[in-house]
Amino acid sequence: MGTDLRVGLGFDLHRFGGDRDLVLGGVPIPEGPKVVAHSDGDVVYHALIDAILGALGKGDIGELFPPGEKRYEGARGVDLYREMTTRVGEFEIVNLDITVVLDSPKLSLYKSKIRTNLSRDLGVEESRISLKAKTSEGLFVSGVMAQVVVLLRLP
Ligand code: MG
Repeated sequence: MGTDLRVGLGFDLHRFGGDRDLVLGGVPIPEGPKVVAHSDGDVVYHALIDAILGALGKGDIGELFPPGEKRYEGARGVDLYREMTTRVGEFEIVNLDITVVLDSPKLSLYKSKIRTNLSRDLGVEESRISLKAKTSEGLFVSGVMAQVVVLLRLP
């Protein structure tokens, strides 16, 4: 890989109240609220995909995976990620900085599991994956959101 570095920012949110179990970075949160989503509603993966597309100037997740399309119904974040990688050309993740906003449950029990899972699925060392969890102090209680900053190195 070369010295061509690109930064990208991704953001996603999903509303509570649907029928999808809450999944963050591929890790199920069984005591979490259900979410409304066409795919699996994993805001961490969706924000990550948008961050990478942003860094590469390749549009956004909605262009790549149109929300109405039958074949993406219930699609797992990691599968969307893998399909995205086949369409955008080569890159290497230098580091990821993820923030999840969720009022309940507290994510302290899940943070390390999510980092380990992402590290394995993305092939990125855990030391290069930061995961911060915040509450919205009750201001944002009807959904879950995530923001991801990624630094990529291109060949
Ligand atoms: Mg989404």
